[in-house]
Amino acid sequence: MRRIIVAGNWKMNKTRKETEDFFKALKPLVEGKDKVEMVIGVPFTNLETAVREAGNVKIAAQNMNPKESGAYTGEISPLMLKDLGVEYVILGHSERREYYKESNEFINEKVKSALSHDLKPILCFGETLEQREGNITEKVVEEQIREGLKDITKEQMANVVLAYEPVWAIGTGKTATSLQAQEVHAFIRNLLTDMFGKEVAENVTVQYGGSMKPENALELMSQTDIDGGLIGGAALDPSSFAKLVEAGIQAL
Ligand code: PEP
Repeated sequence: MRRIIVAGNWKMNKTRKETEDFFKALKPLVEGKDKVEMVIGVPFTNLETAVREAGNVKIAAQNMNPKESGAYTGEISPLMLKDLGVEYVILGHSERREYYKESNEFINEKVKSALSHDLKPILCFGETLEQREGNITEKVVEEQIREGLKDITKEQMANVVLAYEPVWAIGTGKTATSLQAQEVHAFIRNLLTDMFGKEVAENVTVQYGGSMKPENALELMSQTDIDGGLIGGAALDPSSFAKLVEAGIQAL
C-alpha cells in the first residue's frame, strides 16, 4: 500500500540556529510516529544542520540543477545534495514555475537527474485560479504530469512522490475543499493508471498542498486518493508540524 507522507516546505525561511531549534523542539513530539513518512524541505544553507538534527524526519532540498557540475553560477547539483545526506528534492514548485519560469521540460530533466542520483523527487503541479475558472484544471494537470514524468519507467515510479498544489490555494489561506481536492486526485490516479498501469498508480503517493493546517489536515488526508500533504506556512512551527503528522496517522 502507498505511504502517507507529511512534508514541510520551509521556502526561504529560517537560519541554521532556527533550524537547530526547530528540530530540537520537534524531536520529542514525533518520536515513534513512523507510521507516516515525515519530510522537511529546508533552504540549501540549512541542509547540513537539518540532516544532522532531523532524527526520524527525512530532509528535502527545495530545488536542484539537473547537471552534476559545471559553469552554472548559483546552482546546486544532485551530487552536492547526496553528499549532504539529503533524501528528497522538491521539484517544479509553483513558485519556481512562476518566478523563475521553469518549464515542464526543464522540470522533467531535474526529475530524471534526481532519480538517477538516488534522490526522491516530490514533483509539484497544479492549476492557477484563472485556469480553474476557465475549466481547464484537468488539462493543465495532465500536461504537467505527462511532461514532468516523460521517460520515467514504471520501476522508477516507486521513488517518485507527486504533490497536487492548486496555485490559488498556496499561501493564500484558501484551501481546496476536500471534495475539490479529491476530484483532482482521482483524476490523477486514473491518469497514472493510463500512463503506468494500475499497480504503479495504486502505489504512488499523491500529496495535497495549499494552505493545509492542523484544522483541515485530517479531512483532506482522509480522502481516498490523498496521501498526506506538502505544507508551507503550517510547517514552520514544530508543534503545528507535529499536529499535521498526527493527522496523517489518524488518516491511515
Ligand atoms: C507550499 O509551499 O507548497 C504550500 C502548500 O504552502 P502553504 O501551505 O503555505 O499554502
